[in-house]
Amino acid sequence: MYIRLEEGFYIVGGGDTGPGISSYKDCNVYLVADKGRGILFDAGSGLDTGRILENIRETGMELSRIQYLFITHCHGDHTGGVQDMKTAMPHLVIATSEKEAGLMERGTEDMLGLTAAKVKGAYPADYVFRHQKADRILENGEVIRMPGIAVEAVVTPGHSIESVCYQMEWKGRRYLFSGDSVYKNGALSLQNCYGSSLKDYRTYLPRLADRKIDALIPAHFGFALTGGQAHIDKALAYLKSSALPPMV
Ligand SMILES: [Zn+2]
Repeated sequence: MYIRLEEGFYIVGGGDTGPGISSYKDCNVYLVADKGRGILFDAGSGLDTGRILENIRETGMELSRIQYLFITHCHGDHTGGVQDMKTAMPHLVIATSEKEAGLMERGTEDMLGLTAAKVKGAYPADYVFRHQKADRILENGEVIRMPGIAVEAVVTPGHSIESVCYQMEWKGRRYLFSGDSVYKNGALSLQNCYGSSLKDYRTYLPRLADRKIDALIPAHFGFALTGGQAHIDKALAYLKSSALPPMV
């Protein structure tokens, strides 16, 4: 199963906080397919990566044609499936920021936020994060260009130690894959665990100002295919107020 958002743009994974087409624990996993090539955003939890791979195949995209996997941050629901994806697609270039890559390669359960998330009951007690080395480290502002697609890494610590949003220019439109950094209606996600910081949110989320984002595509809950910047601007306004911003 998959959901086609637009020609060449699919949701191929997502559990309880999304379309329910893969493991309940998976964040949304997005596939952009263009000119016979594909790129993925986030990898899901690793609880049932086979389902996500099958969903990708159902869109008509061959796994061998997928070039990049862009990781927004190293929490289990986004990154636990990276190792399986690399096994299924050894050619895949796994890209993220330096600190998130460090966690992905060797983060302890405490550093991954998993200890606290298990106490909350958000993960099965026997969930094991499978580490994976990144293939490419992205700096803030770095742009990866493919024919017809450009993806810029916008590093926005706050939800996690070095979360990355990905601004994609494609077919004359501007998309922001925002991970857990900002959701629809300006909601944020501050967590009571390693790496999450409201101060960092205040410092770095303003990097998303004035970008004229058309589509805001978070990793959970709703998305907006038009008018994306207005949702981001709400978050930026909340961060200027002394009241705690809305969180999910
Ligand atoms: Zn997260």
